[in-house]
Amino acid sequence: MSKNLFGNPHSASESSQLSTQRVEDTRLKVLRFFNASPYAFDVVFVANATAGIKMVADAFRDQEGGFFYGYHRDAHTSLVGVRELASRGQRCFKSTEEMEAFVGINAATSRDHVSLFAYPGQSNMTGNRHSTATCRKIDAARTLWGHMYSLYDAASLVSTSPLDLSDASSSPDFTALSFYKIFGFPDLGALIIKKEAGHVFHRRKYFGGGTTEMIITQGEKWHSPKQQTLHDRLEDGTLPFHNIVALDVAITTHQRLFGSMKAVSQHCAQLAQHLCERLSNLRHANGIKVCEIYNITPDYTKTKEQGPIITFNLITSRWQWVSKTEVEKLAAIKNIQIRSGSLCNPGGMAYHLKLSPEELRRNYAEGLRCGDEHDIMEGKPTGALRISLGAMSNLADIETVMGFLEEFYVDKAPSELVLDSDLVQISSSERFYVESLSIYPIKSCAAFKIPPNISWKIKREGLAWDREWCLVHQGTGAALSQKRYPQMTLLRPTLDLEHNQLRISYGIGADERSIDISLDRETAALDDSSLCGSLSAKASSLCGDKVTVHVYTSPEVSSFFTDALKVPCTLARSIPLNFRYAKARRQPYQNRKQTQVSMPGAFPSRMPDSSTNRILLSNESPILMISRSSVNRLNEQIKEDGGRAVPADVFRANIIIAESPAATAPNDEQPYAEDTWKEVHISDRRFDVMGSCQRCQMVCIDQYSGVRSEEPFSTLAKTRRFDGKVFFGQHICPADDGDDDDTLEEEGWTIQAGDAVVPKNERD
Ligand SMILES: *Cc1c(COP(=O)(O)O)cnc(C)c1O
Repeated sequence: MSKNLFGNPHSASESSQLSTQRVEDTRLKVLRFFNASPYAFDVVFVANATAGIKMVADAFRDQEGGFFYGYHRDAHTSLVGVRELASRGQRCFKSTEEMEAFVGINAATSRDHVSLFAYPGQSNMTGNRHSTATCRKIDAARTLWGHMYSLYDAASLVSTSPLDLSDASSSPDFTALSFYKIFGFPDLGALIIKKEAGHVFHRRKYFGGGTTEMIITQGEKWHSPKQQTLHDRLEDGTLPFHNIVALDVAITTHQRLFGSMKAVSQHCAQLAQHLCERLSNLRHANGIKVCEIYNITPDYTKTKEQGPIITFNLITSRWQWVSKTEVEKLAAIKNIQIRSGSLCNPGGMAYHLKLSPEELRRNYAEGLRCGDEHDIMEGKPTGALRISLGAMSNLADIETVMGFLEEFYVDKAPSELVLDSDLVQISSSERFYVESLSIYPIKSCAAFKIPPNISWKIKREGLAWDREWCLVHQGTGAALSQKRYPQMTLLRPTLDLEHNQLRISYGIGADERSIDISLDRETAALDDSSLCGSLSAKASSLCGDKVTVHVYTSPEVSSFFTDALKVPCTLARSIPLNFRYAKARRQPYQNRKQTQVSMPGAFPSRMPDSSTNRILLSNESPILMISRSSVNRLNEQIKEDGGRAVPADVFRANIIIAESPAATAPNDEQPYAEDTWKEVHISDRRFDVMGSCQRCQMVCIDQYSGVRSEEPFSTLAKTRRFDGKVFFGQHICPADDGDDDDTLEEEGWTIQAGDAVVPKNERD
């Protein structure tokens, strides 16, 4: 590809002819790869397996009288979707046997319309394989009665198995697949069509560039489709010819590296069998098995029946399901990329997870959406974890996976840690004090450490200016998070109340850059020529919150942040509720639309009714409090395992409390005492403790360099995991004593380093 000039095919130039020739050669090579004769089959290049399936579906929709569609329970979503075009009815079969019986019974009686039967060569959920034998039955039925066709979804199968189409009569009429699943590259798919069944495409209405011989547009409407080959009529527009050349190279390279698909199949089968045995034998110390594996046959060496895919869920030693999101978080720190969720296989999932249509509808009504964190609902998992093995997998990979599961998901001690509220007794009231205060003016960016000699204002929403701003992606409008963009921590916001501005800087020394933003909301909003430019209200999605923000549209602001993060983004400011209501009637906001977007997110388990607690852009609650003693204890545990201690900054707390040396005897620290508190009184004001803060791998980001590592999440997951969730620190919020906001403001509620912290184990 670096040595040749490939022109757009279909012209006479040398470069164009070169492309045409390579495309035609590769087409033949694809047929050979599947042992298919070019006399019996044709290959249509498409974007992916789904595009091939849809091409067949569209052709059947256009048949006279519509079509009947039958599909297998193991079908991938892309195969299920065909049913929406089937105007003569549809049916989901539990097995290929049931499908074959249906074909036998209905062949003679359904001559007035066409039928299409589809099934996967391999379930992408369980790896359960289905041979082309059913296609032969359908082919035989068509020879006798006509009108029946088979669609074979080979996308999952062909990645680890040979597919032999040498006997055309036992081959599918239409075979869909994606090459990237076999070779990794290029992103390209194919529909292999048995020529005998190619006539179903003759009713196709649309034609695109390259598919016709002649078109008349003036005076009359007439065109003549290309006649020579099926692919000529079906490949609309310019083929992805560079991809096709790459496919040619991929086939050769794959052969050189792995020999044959048969060799790949055997290699994967051995590995899968080994992995399956290891997973099945995994037990907690109390004997309870760790993995619930979803498969039809546990014998992975029977390659005709079973492919190298293992889908499973984890179980705790107390017989509870482990949430897949938690597994993903831990896998992330171990650099394991794991596929989880409902895997685009609705029928297989419902069957293996034993979810009835009613339960699925109820889960949906309760908010379950594809890819979200509703992992376990009504005591049942809504998805699973999947391990797929391929040509390049090896025993070391299996050791990595097993090591990960054994480290985090197998209980060696008979019982798990419990939050025990009797453990800690609160002694002297002078014991705890505020060690330091931090705010995060821009969500997910660096902390602004409040100088110890300053008393900081507290509002209903939390510490003044905390997470008042965020950065939003200019394309999606979503708020950026450190989880995806660790470099956000290199942006340092500083509040300069004297000059009424927020300064944001990054870089050091001569490379330091900074920008100043006025704190004045009204000016910024009114004055379009100010640095802030015009603020426009935009809906932004943020985990756990409904948020409306004002976006800074000034190019200066957006280019500052875009340059800093190398992500197209700009600054946005939250609109507190009282501001929103009070100012809504005023001019500058009157014409601006303020919409709300809701994102399902996790709230802390013990969270009281949050409707009265106002939240800005912070994920979960107004104020996050951690304890120095708990950080110390955690660091001791990290060091015991040979790890490196972490600074308290990684927990991004607002308040760090510590135990006064005067009131604490040596070795008498009370780590995790805060877990049992219901209330804390700081500078004589009452705060409710709302619940423990659930943690993710974001705590592994070094707050000075933006570099990710394994700790402290790895040790937290081993020592601080309850019900599959990892907790550290407590959410607190100003107790609602019935004061309205103005009273709060007037009274000037503040907090300062050194303030006494008096905890209570009961609520007043
Ligand atoms: C991956 C897959 C598909 C879809 O393939 P795309 O390349 O996403 O179109 C369809 N069916 C099965 C069985 C698959 O594994």
